[in-house]
Amino acid sequence: MDNQTPENLIKQRTLLIQEVLSLQEFVRGTLVKTKKKCGRKSCKCEKGLLHPHIYISTSRNRRNQVVYIRPNEVGQAEHYIKNYRKLTETLDKISQVNIALLKLEKNNTVKKGK
Ligand SMILES: [Zn+2]
Repeated sequence: MDNQTPENLIKQRTLLIQEVLSLQEFVRGTLVKTKKKCGRKSCKCEKGLLHPHIYISTSRNRRNQVVYIRPNEVGQAEHYIKNYRKLTETLDKISQVNIALLKLEKNNTVKKGK
């Protein structure tokens, strides 16, 4: 991001902000896919056909939080989680752009001071 004009950087930042706006469906968490027995004695799971046990593990105020997911919702859950990663990557890029802008401002101030 060196040798950039402030105009270019601001343009980049605008594009990245638009990307942020397109990533509204996000969740911070991890998808956990396991299987388990339900506890009913006559159930097929007692013979080894375990039930899918899927959840998003996340934290809230440093406490663990679990959101159960139906098997047919796995794709959606993965989409939300993937978007969160993209969002943090995009925010990091915006931060880099802003650092470049701050550096440019500082350089300009130094030049003016001469
Ligand atoms: Zn069962």
